[in-house]
Amino acid sequence: MTRITSCFTGIFFAAFLAACGAGETPSETAATTTPASENDIDLIVNGSHIVTMDEVGTIIENGAIAIDDGVILAVGSADEVTAKYSAAVTLDGERRIVMPGIVNGHSHAAMTLLRGVADDLALMDWLQNYIFPAEVEFVDAEFVRIGTELACWEMIRGGTTTFVDMYYYPDTIAQVVEDCGMRALISATVIDQRSPDAENADDGIRKGSGFIERWQNRNSRITPIFGPHANYTLNAGQLAATRDAAMKYGVPISIHLSESPFEVQNSQNTYGMTSIEHFESIGFFEGPTIAAHVVWPTQEEIPILAERRVGVIHNPTSNMKIASGIAPITEMLEAGVLVGLGTDGAASNNDLDMWEEMRLAAFLQKVDRMDPTAIPATTVLRMATSGGAAAIGLGDTIGSLEVGKRADLIQVAFEDVHHVPTYDVVSHLVYVSDEQDVASVIIDGKVVMLERKITSIDTERVAEEATALAARIQAALKERNEAN
Ligand SMILES: [Zn+2]
Repeated sequence: MTRITSCFTGIFFAAFLAACGAGETPSETAATTTPASENDIDLIVNGSHIVTMDEVGTIIENGAIAIDDGVILAVGSADEVTAKYSAAVTLDGERRIVMPGIVNGHSHAAMTLLRGVADDLALMDWLQNYIFPAEVEFVDAEFVRIGTELACWEMIRGGTTTFVDMYYYPDTIAQVVEDCGMRALISATVIDQRSPDAENADDGIRKGSGFIERWQNRNSRITPIFGPHANYTLNAGQLAATRDAAMKYGVPISIHLSESPFEVQNSQNTYGMTSIEHFESIGFFEGPTIAAHVVWPTQEEIPILAERRVGVIHNPTSNMKIASGIAPITEMLEAGVLVGLGTDGAASNNDLDMWEEMRLAAFLQKVDRMDPTAIPATTVLRMATSGGAAAIGLGDTIGSLEVGKRADLIQVAFEDVHHVPTYDVVSHLVYVSDEQDVASVIIDGKVVMLERKITSIDTERVAEEATALAARIQAALKERNEAN
């Protein structure tokens, strides 16, 4: 009776009273194991509410999800699901909101190791005088392995199950993702300058092609793609050559697009056109494109993005921190553009917290338009889940809790003081919940975090390795500064 008592004394919200009923499972632990039988499935995940993020926004009170072989078999009331299925592992649903795993549509994961190395600078100053030189000096495969593991740890802890990465040594990134159980689109970076893993753009395309050949169809959670850096770091021929290579392998492209006034002006000076007009003129949008930022599209360019099904990834924290501007998300959504959310790298954020991105995305549109009704909570939650999945081309695979989709989902604990009272679950998820509330994470049907314990990464080792590497970077920076 202890649970029911605590429910009555701690929470007054009616749904939680109902959840106490759902909590009448015989277990006292979050995960219970039952003996195998012929009808067993892998996993049942219960929730006091299941926020499905399906087309009509169905929310099921006292619900459950049946999962086998990485696929969602059933989504329904806990009574129905448990009557029909018997699972090897069952996650208790008391005071747990179940929702799709979060999609981080734009990151540079290993930059967690450069978190805080240079702040409060303009984008081009920050890139050219700090980030690019630091990367050439310090970034190698070992840096990328440790930094990506650190990022995956942070992302899993916060409920992110899928990310789109753009960094160097993509084979190393893919290996980390394969090992830690996340889902990712991993870009081979193409940039017209010496980078940590390539001499120039041609070398980047060549090495990227090798990466794609090694990883395409190897693991269903991993999609190798190309990541041409931006319109201002590649010429028209190099951009077209990267698109040709992507078309050859049938893979999407991830790119920074229309991020800053500098980029727009630079494109005008070079081509007499803005970046989006330039890309349209060279046929760049003829293959699937995931475009990060898109802060400065004109009214004429927004319909092009919609028509070409460009997935726009909004990065509100990075756009605010580097003062890139406020993306016209409301106009893009109204025009039918696919919009997701991302963190960008941890050097320009400085964390990988998608809950913060959700809140800031909503607040930025409201204050920019002086309209509190601009992008409501449901719209923002969609951008972080089903909308984000559609923007990165995985809308049929993940992003909502529906039968037949891959089982990427999280349980969010609604037991902290900031969840009392709870009138509206979606409002609370967007405007209140944060990373620390994420209790359990399931990716492709596998539990990678159970009640805040990450099971797929040796976090102690990663913390030690990251601390040691950061100390080496700091010592070298100090030496360099003293020499200058
Ligand atoms: Zn970026």
